[in-house]
Amino acid sequence: MRQKMNILFVISEAEPLIKVGGLGDVGGTLPLALINLPEDLTEQTEIDIKVVIPYHDHIKQKQWPVEPVASFQVLSRNGFIKTDVFRALNTDLPVFLVDGEPIRNTGTYNNNTYIDTKKYTYFSVAALAFCRTIKWKPDILHAHDWHTAAAIQKLSQIRSYDTFFSHTKSLFTIHNLPYSGGNHPDILYLFDIHQAFDPEIPDFMRNLPMAIGLDAADHINTVSKTYAEEILTDGFGNGYQNYLRSHSEKVSGIINGIMMDQWNPSAEKVLYKNYSVDTLSDRIENKRMLQQEMWLSQKDQTILFVMVGRMTYQKGFDLCVQALRQMRDQDWQIIILGTGEDSIQKACLSLSNEFPDRVRTELRYDEPLSRRMYAGGDVLLMPSRYEPCGIAQMISMLYGCIPVACSTGGLKDTIKDPFDHPTDYTGFLFSNPDVSAAEWAIRRSIAYYQDQQNWSQIQIRAMKQDFSWRNSAKEYFDLYKSLQICE
Ligand code: ADP
Repeated sequence: MRQKMNILFVISEAEPLIKVGGLGDVGGTLPLALINLPEDLTEQTEIDIKVVIPYHDHIKQKQWPVEPVASFQVLSRNGFIKTDVFRALNTDLPVFLVDGEPIRNTGTYNNNTYIDTKKYTYFSVAALAFCRTIKWKPDILHAHDWHTAAAIQKLSQIRSYDTFFSHTKSLFTIHNLPYSGGNHPDILYLFDIHQAFDPEIPDFMRNLPMAIGLDAADHINTVSKTYAEEILTDGFGNGYQNYLRSHSEKVSGIINGIMMDQWNPSAEKVLYKNYSVDTLSDRIENKRMLQQEMWLSQKDQTILFVMVGRMTYQKGFDLCVQALRQMRDQDWQIIILGTGEDSIQKACLSLSNEFPDRVRTELRYDEPLSRRMYAGGDVLLMPSRYEPCGIAQMISMLYGCIPVACSTGGLKDTIKDPFDHPTDYTGFLFSNPDVSAAEWAIRRSIAYYQDQQNWSQIQIRAMKQDFSWRNSAKEYFDLYKSLQICE
């Protein structure tokens, strides 16, 4: 008989309805990859997945077509809250939108942590109530980051006595551990969510949504295997390391995939010239035109670095800025694209002022330019101090732009360095997030770049990497299955 697996996938964002960051990519793509897993990989299991997100104001403003599917009340200590759920139309994604007073008239994320915590705690509780209303029993509750942690805790509280949820198992995926949510015990009380009680969680963190989700989850995973190991250490654990270490048997990692067809240099219209591994010699046109677009001199032999991303401490742009400053003896150019913290923007601008003929800094979000940079740049610099997964390095490899990155989290898991992979390396890694290590790795990339024939081989290997969701979706399926089995 064909088996069925019901997955309740609760998350704060899912593209194409709403995307603020990488979470939106995962919310929109992993569920589709799961549904599309071939039957031989799922042992003929029929996967029924419901993606549940808040009906954010932004989605309403876009006037995305929806149909009503359920109307019910959510209990709080201040009385019932009328809740409506709509299904989004015109999308392959089975996505359901929860609407109620704490969600209305809020930003997707709010600077005010009280508003945010109330919005997402209510949303988490409502997602479970929705399942009961439509009489759809989830086998797996899969929640993501602090926003949906309360669903995990609520489930663990009710399933001991509530037969509807007695067989539901929970998976909590950490996309970014330092973001823990607000400390608001009164909101937890409002929705009857218990605080984290494990003795290994520091007292001052017991009411944080992230702590509550970690404590109550049947299993915890992060978005790369290396980050799953790193969060057990003092340097990356953000206060949770003792708890995570003492429960390491329930912590694992699965790398995120990307939609490979959305990042294809042979088909994109915004590039100056399309190319593939078979027409790699055409790629140089993109470098020349990018240099021209950026008012840099058109020199084929000069290595062109690119740096794209949010300008936050995490991303480590400052490390490469200083390393390049120390490498004035070398022939290089760099284009930097990003927005973020003032001090990092200023550091990038000051490099432009010091090297006006070599450096361009563009302080904006510009996706077409980012694609032209991946297509025209020789090397992507990605010196993140920590990187749970990271997708920029995967995209750049698919474009033949070779990454130089810090050996952390998903960067370590997706980039192969010549030291560990002498015959099939795809980039260059440095171990410590400091200036001299970054400089050392950048100098290595310049040395390898001198041998253009070998460089083309590195590019071809990088462009042939499989970063699709398929393998990771299968790993998620296997994880769901293992949770189902252990009653
Ligand atoms: P994070 O999700 O931590 O910001 P990732 O590497 O996972 O980092 O994803 C960043 C994505 O956002 C990449 O696709 C990158 O190209 C894109 N991006 C970041 N900043 C910009 C920008 N200023 N302009 C265009 N694209 C950007």
